[in-house]
Formats: sequence, structure tokens, C-alpha cells
Amino acid sequence: MAIKINLAKSAGFCFGVRRAITITLKTTAKHKDVRMLGDIVHNEDVIAMMEKTGVKKIRTLRKNRGQTLVIRAHGLPESVFRRAEKLGYTIVDATCPMVKEIHKLARRMEQEKRRIIIIGDKKHDEVRGIKGQLKTKAFVVPSVGAAAHLPFARIKKAGVVIQSTQDEENARRILQKISSKVRDLKFFNTICAPTRIKQAEVKAIPLENDVAIVIGSSASANTRRLFEIARKLNPRTHWVRSAKDIRPRWLKGVSSIGITTGASTPDATTQEVVARLRALCA
Ligand code: SF4
Repeated sequence: MAIKINLAKSAGFCFGVRRAITITLKTTAKHKDVRMLGDIVHNEDVIAMMEKTGVKKIRTLRKNRGQTLVIRAHGLPESVFRRAEKLGYTIVDATCPMVKEIHKLARRMEQEKRRIIIIGDKKHDEVRGIKGQLKTKAFVVPSVGAAAHLPFARIKKAGVVIQSTQDEENARRILQKISSKVRDLKFFNTICAPTRIKQAEVKAIPLENDVAIVIGSSASANTRRLFEIARKLNPRTHWVRSAKDIRPRWLKGVSSIGITTGASTPDATTQEVVARLRALCA
């Protein structure tokens, strides 16, 4: 019996990643010395493609004459932004508008004298960028367990935002914990629309197919999250970076395979995975 391959409608770049790539490519067409601080998006194939067009990745900012710095999709702390300007970079801001919106909401709630709580991963670039918009120290809460350790006695008035790619269910549980302890709480659900659509689809794929495959870089937190959601629903879920990672034994006794991708996975990588699966199924 032929194995059916079902690709999620939302597979491929999210709006913010696609936009950041387009901005970077347009910038390299116009300017000579283009730099990106760290990875513009979390995918090695995309970075390699960018480097081929002449963009150079840098780890630290340096004094320079005439270099152009493209700001990554996940944004930067305000202090790094200002430092780059002072050092002479021409800034091209490719921060996703949905991330910019989170910055705005966090700053506005801080002006209302609220302690800012970010539901998200402490070390993620986006969370660092959000924290870096604020004058006061924000709390970052990745789990319900961590929420229990917040110093609630000192938090009378709080404002909560969520990292754009968080798992909605996990965020809801954390919020419940916080709202049971803080009397004056303002909250914005800042999980972005592309993430919600991907998460909704990834909840169906593992149940509707014998095997689920999530494609994306190991550096991509949103890919990890999609994989974790799918794995809970179907133990025959696999996370692959490229077609090379596929193992023929995964297809034993299988009649359908469901596929989704992280927000920064190029379509070319997905097509290679699909082609490899078709070849193994033939
Ligand atoms: S995941 Fe959402 S917020 Fe992040 S870059 Fe993509 S569209 Fe923007």
C-alpha cells in the first residue's frame, strides 16, 4: 500500500522570518559591507544562503566606517541598538513587527509602574530583546514551576507578555498561577498568529498520521516546541534537520506520514525531505 505524505498548510517560513530574509537580501543588493549580529534567523541553511550573498556574521560590534547592520527577526535590546549606531553602523531593522509590538506593550506597562513578567525562555534572543527594552528588571518565567518561585510578596502590580513562539497551553497554566497571586494584573497574549496556526496544526498531525516529522534546525526553539507537542501525542514523532536524518525503519508498517516545519525552515529543505520519503516509500 502506498504511504500518504501530508504536509501541513502552515509549513515553511513564518511572516517575520520571510520578511527578515527579504530585507537582508535587498540590503545586500544595495550595500557592500553588510553584517548580521549573530544569526538573523535560527536556521543554518538560511544563514549559509545569506553568507553566499555577502552578508557576514559577527559576534561583537566594532567601531567601523560605513558598515550596514541588519537587525535579526527576534530583535535586539535597546542598548545594543544604540551602541551599534554610536559605533557607526547604518542600521537596517528587520525585527518582526509582531516582536516590536511586544516591545511596545512591555514598555507601556512599565510606564504604568507594573513589574514586567515575560513568559518565555530565559536565553532566547527574543526574550533578551524584550528585557532590553525596559528600565526595570523583568522576570522571565519558562514554566509553572518557575512561576511558583516568583517573589509575589513584592509584586503588587504586574504586566505579562509572552514570547511569540511559546506553547499556548503552557503559557495559560503559567498565567493562571500568576493571576492567583497578583491582584493588579494586566496581560497580553502575544503569541503570534503564525505560531498559533502552526501549533493548532501540530496538534492534529500526530493524531491523523502514523508517523509525524518536524523539520527544523536544532537551534530553533519553535521547532523544538512543535516537536515536543507532537511527541506527546504520538511517540512515533521525529525531528529532522534535513533529508539525511531520515531513517528507513521509521516507515515500517506506516500508511501515512504527517510533516510540519519550524518557522525558519526553508521550503527547499522540506522538499528534500519529502522527496527522500517518497523515494523510500516507492
Ligand atoms: S514566529 Fe511570529 S513573532 Fe517570531 S518572527 Fe515569526 S511571525 Fe514574527
